[in-house]
Amino acid sequence: MLQLKNVAKSYVTGDFTQVALNKVSLNFRKSEFVAILGQSGSGKTTLLNVIGGLDKYDSGDLIINGQSTKNFKDKDWDAYRNNSVGFIFQSYNLISHLSIVDNVEMGMTLSGVSSSVKHKNAVEALERVGLKDHLHKKPNQLSGGQMQRVAIARALANDPDIILADEPTGALDTETSEQIMELIKEIAKDKLVIMVTHNPELAYKYANRIVNFSDGNIKSDSNPFDSEEVLEGYKLKKTSMSFVTALKLSGKNILTKKWRTAIISFASSIGIIGIALVLALSNGFNKQISSFETDTMSNYPITIDKTAMNLQMSKSSSEKVNLKKYTGKKNIYSYDSSKDNQAHTNDITQKYIDYLNKMDKSLLDGVTYTRSINMNILKMNADKATLLNTSKVNFQTFPSNPDKIESNYLKENYDLLDGSYSSNKTDLMLVVDEYNRLDTSMLKELGIDTPDGKSINFKDIIGKQYKLIMNNDYYVKTGNIYTVNGVATDLSKLYNSDKAVTLKISGIVRAKESSKAASLSSGIAYSDELAQHFINDAVNSEVVKAQQGADYNVLTGGMLATDSTKASQANSMKPGMNAGMGSGSMSANIAPETKDSVLASLGATSIPKSIALYPKNFEAKKSIKTYLDKWNKGLKEKNKIEYSDLSATMTSLTGGIMNGITLVLVAFAAISLVVSMIMISIIIYISVLERTKEIGILRALGARKKDVSRVFNAETFIIGACSGLMGIGIAYLLTIPANSIIYSATELKNVAQLKPSHAITLVIVSVVLTMLAGIIPARMAAKKDPVEALRSE
Ligand code: ADP
Ligand code: MG
Repeated sequence: MLQLKNVAKSYVTGDFTQVALNKVSLNFRKSEFVAILGQSGSGKTTLLNVIGGLDKYDSGDLIINGQSTKNFKDKDWDAYRNNSVGFIFQSYNLISHLSIVDNVEMGMTLSGVSSSVKHKNAVEALERVGLKDHLHKKPNQLSGGQMQRVAIARALANDPDIILADEPTGALDTETSEQIMELIKEIAKDKLVIMVTHNPELAYKYANRIVNFSDGNIKSDSNPFDSEEVLEGYKLKKTSMSFVTALKLSGKNILTKKWRTAIISFASSIGIIGIALVLALSNGFNKQISSFETDTMSNYPITIDKTAMNLQMSKSSSEKVNLKKYTGKKNIYSYDSSKDNQAHTNDITQKYIDYLNKMDKSLLDGVTYTRSINMNILKMNADKATLLNTSKVNFQTFPSNPDKIESNYLKENYDLLDGSYSSNKTDLMLVVDEYNRLDTSMLKELGIDTPDGKSINFKDIIGKQYKLIMNNDYYVKTGNIYTVNGVATDLSKLYNSDKAVTLKISGIVRAKESSKAASLSSGIAYSDELAQHFINDAVNSEVVKAQQGADYNVLTGGMLATDSTKASQANSMKPGMNAGMGSGSMSANIAPETKDSVLASLGATSIPKSIALYPKNFEAKKSIKTYLDKWNKGLKEKNKIEYSDLSATMTSLTGGIMNGITLVLVAFAAISLVVSMIMISIIIYISVLERTKEIGILRALGARKKDVSRVFNAETFIIGACSGLMGIGIAYLLTIPANSIIYSATELKNVAQLKPSHAITLVIVSVVLTMLAGIIPARMAAKKDPVEALRSE
């Protein structure tokens, strides 16, 4: 069964070489009880460890069941120890944090025996050694004799062919020793039992073969054996510990030091807490920003102006040629100022307007077309008809959907104080400020009397009428110019004409207190339908035709600037240059009349000067932009229609700043993660030192090196998971006071919000980092020599 052939083993310490085995040759039967007797230090333990594959021989050969072990690999030795050998030690070597039954099961656990079979075998083995009532006790709850019985049960449980016992009764009293020896003798009936002892009495009483050993040599053998016995069907089964087993083992170990683990986990969770809080806050702030955006900023319009500022234009020419500001050089540099112009001219065409009209109306609260049109409106005051100066009453269109007069925009953003919202193109809205005020001069211009000089009842305003006069009725040709028909004598004829369109104030509105997108000025607002009605008539009117054919202003006879280039140049004149003309700085901002501008004011064109699109909500705003971008696809840069969305520029800026701050704070918090990694590394190293004995036991039971490192990886896994979960838990709890502090300081509710995805990621990060920190100590554990590990206390 087992043969030693000239097996030699010596230990080298410094210059000194201790020969422990001096070419020992011994042959064992497949079932006998061999006692190896010898003085302390004679090499008995060494012999047993070599036989058991715990220690390697230097030379010679160990033949197991007819097979040489010269070429055995680590995994072969591991399998041999696990399947074929059962160890019984003087100091029992039980794993203290496992129950009795778990200790007995361990060998089978390593060779992957199913848990039901494992348990059955373990209980049977414990029954055999008389401990069936102590299954769930811990080793330290048993007497020495009982512990040794557990060790015997463990050695038997996996049903090995060889039992190796190293001074099994060395720590026991005489009576207990006798009981243990009886047990071992019983086992030896069908197994090879090799027992080492320095107690000849016990050896002679129980063993059936005595080998006397001295200084690494066999002195005598009472029953030598020369032939060879080979077991049928002998095959070694590879061992492996599953990660679940490793987790269980480490989990039970950790349970024995709960407080320490809790404190370590807490310490290493601080980094996680920090990062979690920073992420929760930044997440919350970003949410606040985007809800602000959704709630309010999305209501701000997207505008399309004739001239759009392009903020992302390339550098101005002065920067391109590397000129320095405030130079000391005595030179003047010439440059083309028009190249510095960053404005983009949007050529808004009827086709583009039609394109806008085809937009999904449900995306919009309303659209405003700003036109330079000057409608002819008369008012009747004290039985006298006069012209209404529309610019003095802020005559403006309210946003509405194309082809529709009812305005969502008005309903969303304005309270109706009296009357009704516009439902007809001739309905005018009177817009008042938050105090229900209107400028005195505006009231006067509107022809509304203030009886007591202070307030007017809504009733006196609702229904107030004005008359819109079409161009052909309004203008008469006088010589080369057109004047208002009857302006010098009597306008009431015009006013009372049945061709006049009656307009009336149908409602009084005021911006809602909560509205952030109320953009109308105090005064009169009307629907674009009215403007279109006027334009439809005006395009074919006499005055427009006359203006189209004239190179002077047909209303005044005055000169016109010849083209729009000149107009824009004149427009950019500095106030100082204009001072000589006597009109001061004001005139600098008034565009000189061109034919186009006069035509536009006469209603000759349906193309607006600017368009403002009011989105329904944040999502709608995105869709609107996509729709506008679609128009530009494939167009040359100069033909593109550029729109501006100020709110988007603002929010993307704040969002970017938030992300930057978050990154910096996370980096700071991450430093504490590094510190905790170092700490974990040290803690695991200490744990390796503490669990050295356990490492030795596991190796003796057939655990591979890999399995040992797995045990420690499991420990770091548990610590990492604990600290991750603890960190997330604490961070979550901390968001409660954090939120109440933020609320009292800023009135923002629930700012700190930990995202579940962030929480899960952080737990994973904690586990991964902790496991990384434990890799080196785990490797050290795996490399430990099993014999030395067993000898440690
Ligand atoms: P026994 O079990 O018979 O008391 P051992 O087999 O333990 O004897 O030891 C045999 C000899 O080898 C002793 O002299 C011991 O000091 C020496 N020895 C055992 N292990 C080591 C070791 N790891 N390093 C150095 N010397 C050792
Ligand atoms: Mg010994």
